[in-house]
Amino acid sequence: MRQRGKLEYGGHAAPQRTCVGCRGRTAKSELLRLVLVEDHVTPDLRGRLPGRGASLHPSMSCLELAERRRAFPRAFRVPGPLDVSRVRAHLEEEKYEMSCRTPS
Ligand SMILES: [Zn+2]
Repeated sequence: MRQRGKLEYGGHAAPQRTCVGCRGRTAKSELLRLVLVEDHVTPDLRGRLPGRGASLHPSMSCLELAERRRAFPRAFRVPGPLDVSRVRAHLEEEKYEMSCRTPS
């Protein structure tokens, strides 16, 4: 018997989201939540910004895929085009944080 939809993690079903770039389903905690602030796609780092969210793997290749597929206007249900420079800047910063972790 195959279970559909949810993977089990130690007895708990982890919430999953679909990455708007590669369309892969991944645990919500591993994805970056994005919200729309005016025309800027903005990383919601604290998970507190209101509004419709989109999920993305924190990776440049998924960001580029999402852009190429025009996934953001579709995810946010706006005509677009949208500015993703904040997401790109965040992903670029993230690389430094990975190599040199500093408490915020
Ligand atoms: Zn992805």
